[in-house]
Amino acid sequence: MDEYGNSGEGRATRRDEAVRAAVEQGLLGPDSPIVGLLDVTGIRESAAELRAAFAEVTAPGTPVLHAFAVKATPLVPVLRLLREEGIGAEVASPGELALARAAGLSPAQTVLDSPAKTPAELREALALGIAVNADNPQELDRIDGLVRSAVSRSPLGIRVNPQVGGGSIGATSTATATSKFGVALRDEGAREWVMRAYLDRPWLSRLHAHTGSQGIPLPLMAQGVAETYALAEEINRRIGRPQIDTIDIGGGLPVNFASDVTAPTYAEYARALREAVPGLFDGRYGLVTEFGRSLLAKHGTIVARVEYAKSAGGRAVAVTHAGVQVATRTVYVPGSWPLRITAYDGKGRPKSGPEVVQDVAGPACFAGDLLAEGRALPLLDQGDYAAALDTGAYYFAHHYAYNSLARPGIYGFVPAHAGGVRFATVRDPQTLSSIVAESGGAHAGALTTLHAPGSR
Ligand SMILES: *Cc1c(COP(=O)(O)O)cnc(C)c1O
Repeated sequence: MDEYGNSGEGRATRRDEAVRAAVEQGLLGPDSPIVGLLDVTGIRESAAELRAAFAEVTAPGTPVLHAFAVKATPLVPVLRLLREEGIGAEVASPGELALARAAGLSPAQTVLDSPAKTPAELREALALGIAVNADNPQELDRIDGLVRSAVSRSPLGIRVNPQVGGGSIGATSTATATSKFGVALRDEGAREWVMRAYLDRPWLSRLHAHTGSQGIPLPLMAQGVAETYALAEEINRRIGRPQIDTIDIGGGLPVNFASDVTAPTYAEYARALREAVPGLFDGRYGLVTEFGRSLLAKHGTIVARVEYAKSAGGRAVAVTHAGVQVATRTVYVPGSWPLRITAYDGKGRPKSGPEVVQDVAGPACFAGDLLAEGRALPLLDQGDYAAALDTGAYYFAHHYAYNSLARPGIYGFVPAHAGGVRFATVRDPQTLSSIVAESGGAHAGALTTLHAPGSR
């Protein structure tokens, strides 16, 4: 195991111990058949690895803000933990900004990037002094108005799309020719428009690009950063002073969903960037990063009880409590988002025995609600548990309310003395009254009392 536990052995051991302890301590059981677990030790390790990776490649004294993409795991205690680890927040909606503020993040640690910011959102961000990257010319017009009418400390920039192409997953490829994000740099006249925008606005000091997420190969990510850097250099040369002082390179480091190993690592990416874009690290530019999935994915586990074990058409089917509501992408697009599943017995101990090809199904009422199809695992039985691994980002924190299934409780864990495990509640399980309230419960008669003229 290396310094950061990237071989994943410690991670797997901690996970197994947490599953057993969750059963022993009653977090998991017949009446609470699904939980999300977060490995606090692992999250801290990833945050430390991120900081160290960029500290190693940047010139001494370079300002670097690592802003966690809140959308990856929008949970206040997670944001607070990351804050303690020196990580800020990248937000993309009023809700995400509210979460970051609730976690105690300061405006200086926060970056706003959404593609559809309203005038009110922009006004608030500039009033607070939060960094904003304008997505398009219309948004820059709005910012012009705000900058004219009030003094703001917000560092301001423009988001560009270097259009370097997509990766293996279309839905997470943001630098395609027709992506909805940023100013499409290779379109006719776009580069000149960006140049003019900076020439006319001495207060524009940042440049931002996010080339995409899972499925983008490292060289393509590095190319996106290289093109952004080249544009910043060109703009500063033309203006004759280092007006752009900070480059925001986005996030997007892919995650290995095939084993417990962290690959690629932040250190590998940082070195690849320094090789591809040495000038970015020589101290002339401050850096912002916006990693999401790579900080959290490997530290989350969904554990669900097997309610029934059945057989259909010769196929063993374990019907569990984890499906589309907690693993939406995997259920709808299984080819792009396969998850590892591990089997535990009714006491939460890793299950052994011969592997049997089986389906691990969810609780939702449609046939495609499968966490895994045709997976070889020790045969899951009634009362066992199935765990979906690497689900700390874009999974259980992204509840999908199909079938009015309740949001599961989420618990953080650390190893305790004497081989035990300590848990802390990150999010309470959703109650039935909360489901009713969120489903218009306060307006039960709203439609029956709404009559069109002439009807009774
Ligand atoms: C989603 C997103 C990120 C984070 O992407 P990950 O793949 O989770 O690292 C960063 N920046 C922007 C602008 C995003 O939209």
